[in-house]
Order: sequence, then C-alpha cells, then structure tokens
Amino acid sequence: MNNNEDKTLEEMTRDEKTHDERTLGETLRSQGISRRSFLKFCAATASMMAMSPAMIPKIARALEQARRPSVIWLSFQECTGCTESLTRSHAATIENLIFNTISLDYHHTLQAASGTAAEAAREAAMKENFGKYLLIVDGSIPLDNPGYSTIAGISNVDMLMETAAGAAAIIAVGTCASYGGIPHANPNPTGAVSVTDIIKDKPIINVPGCPPIPVVITGVLTQFLTFGSLPELDDIGRPMAFYGKSIHDRCYRRPFYDKGLFAETFDDEGAKKGWCLYKLGCKGPTTYNACATTKWNNGTSFPIESGHPCLGCSEPDFWDGGGFYKSISMPTENITKTVIYTAAGAAAAGVAIGAINRSRKNKAVASHSKTGIDDLSK
Ligand code: SF4
Ligand code: SF4
Repeated sequence: MNNNEDKTLEEMTRDEKTHDERTLGETLRSQGISRRSFLKFCAATASMMAMSPAMIPKIARALEQARRPSVIWLSFQECTGCTESLTRSHAATIENLIFNTISLDYHHTLQAASGTAAEAAREAAMKENFGKYLLIVDGSIPLDNPGYSTIAGISNVDMLMETAAGAAAIIAVGTCASYGGIPHANPNPTGAVSVTDIIKDKPIINVPGCPPIPVVITGVLTQFLTFGSLPELDDIGRPMAFYGKSIHDRCYRRPFYDKGLFAETFDDEGAKKGWCLYKLGCKGPTTYNACATTKWNNGTSFPIESGHPCLGCSEPDFWDGGGFYKSISMPTENITKTVIYTAAGAAAAGVAIGAINRSRKNKAVASHSKTGIDDLSK
C-alpha cells in the first residue's frame, strides 16, 4: 500500500518540502547509501574526469552540501533512446540516485502531469528558479516548418528559446540535440538543427551518443552539482573528460590493429580470435567517446567487445558518413600494408588514417552516400 494514502495533503506537502530542502548528502543517506559507497562513487567520478585523487574529499564535501537543483528536460525530435538509456540502468546505482535527487521539474516522458498542468509546472519552475535551473534537451529542432513538432501547441523552437532564457546552462543530451542526429541526416526533411545552432548566449555542453552512456550524463551533472561549473569542452562542445580520446586510442583490440591483424568477415578466424574490426567498418579511429573505458550496462562491455564495429555515433553527421560496414573504414589501398609500414609509429598511423577517414567521410557526406541494403549484407 502506498504510505501516502494514510497522510493528509498537508503532511504530504510538508514531507515533500522537507525532501526539497535536504542536501544531496542527506538525501543519499536517507536512501540507505553508505559512506563507503558514496566515497567509492566520488573516487570513480574523480578518475573518470581525470582529476587527481586529492580531489576526492573535495568532491565528497561539495556533493554532500549540494542542494537539489531544478532541472527542466525538454524532448524534441527524438526516439526517447536517451531517456531510456538513463532510466534503464539495470541496477540501483549511486549515479541514478544522484539523478533521482535532482528536482526534475519537467520531463515529457517521465512526468505524470499532462496538458495544461504540465505546462504550468514548466512555467512555475522557470519563474521560481530563473537564472539558476539547468536545462537538458534531447532531440533536434525542426526549422523548415515549426509546426512539424509542437508540444501543447508550442513549437519546439519557441519552447527552446523561452526555456533557455532563464537557464544557468544547457546540456544537449544525445547526438540529435548536439548535432542534429538522425532527423538531420540527408535529406533532412524537417530542416532539423541542434541546440547550439539556435541558442548562442548560454553555456552549452554537448553529450552526444546514440544514445549517450548514462554515467557520462550523470558525470556531467555531478560536475555541475559539485563545482557549480561546466567541464572543459573540446572544439565541438563535448566534455574532454569523456570525449578527449578516441575509441581507437583506448580499444583493447588496438594491438591487433598495430600488427595489421584484421577480421575480414564477422565469422572468420580473425573474428573468432578477437582481431581488429577496422576492415568491417569500425569508426573507432575517428570517434571520440568513453565506451572503451566506461563501457555500457554497468561496465559490462561495449559494442567492439561484442564483436561489432563502432558506428561513430558520437560524431556529427555519422548517419551520412557512408555505409556502416564499409565507407570510411574501407580504404582502397592495402590497409594491412599501410599499418605494417607504420607499425613503429602506431599513434601516427592512427592520426594519418583518421585523416584519410575524415576526408572520405566528408566526401561521402558531400555525395550524400546512403547506407543501402547491399552495405548491410557486406
Ligand atoms: S579500428 Fe576499431 S576495433 Fe580496431 S583497434 Fe581501432 S577501435 Fe578497436
Ligand atoms: S562504440 Fe561507437 S557506435 Fe558504439 S556506442 Fe560507442 S561511440 Fe557509439
């Protein structure tokens, strides 16, 4: 039975208020999180963000004192994969408890309210926390005709601009919000654009991925809760701590790449021996994300570990980069020879081949190369 059924409305309101006034440390304690687990989370966060161990007590102190920030989450042209990624973590982790302790005042998929009541909640949260709330956006924004995607009769572009006006910062979650994603793919029928294409006067962090890794989303939130600041970003707005190195740089199959040992098909001897997936279309050399270290499903594995090439999902225009199983990763020259020649300078090879790939990708984008059924059967 729901405990709230025995309470008066006044008692429920008081309890909710008490919950809102708690610090994050108090909330975590009330949810049974031990000090040891909490410090373990702080240590993992420090290491993920490449901070020195000396920062662990500082992170712990700041997080314990943090109050629940107001968060408004808007979903535009998207598939709900980003929200699914975050909410379907299969175990109760401190990361998702941290996520539970923010005040999520508006989220289309998760909120119980609908229609006028939902919009009233967004407006109230904006008014009460003007200049302080965090805005999270997933999905791209159609500009060709704002009527292509509306919420409560408000176009996505109007809702974004109105809500961004009072935000302290914006996190664009997923490749669609960060770079346009699949709605932006050729021929981009809705004129889809990213958050940064529209909002120019607010700090914006891009957390791309199709979908992004849940702990990367909570890691960025943790940084905001801990230091009240945004992390260092790369030249396309991604946090360096998670997107600073390529999948290829940290891939456990890299020694095979350096020796020129490649799987040629998904079931040949090379595939069985775990050789490099470069010839099967792996975009690891040109893709920057934390999959190879953070991994997925509570650190269980990541696509390359399951025998599938990286598709490059955290990069702009990855849908238009040619076939997933060929294109940028299938140079016409003999890649085995190229790699062996440059074995003494593997890093240089990665950079050089990365450059070849980027140029191929750009050409593919320019010629609107699409993935066809033939590509998928290769
Ligand atoms: S090409 Fe792909 S599979 Fe091969 S080492 Fe690089 S990231 Fe790993
Ligand atoms: S391995 Fe590549 S395609 Fe797969 S989730 Fe990571 S970045 Fe995206």
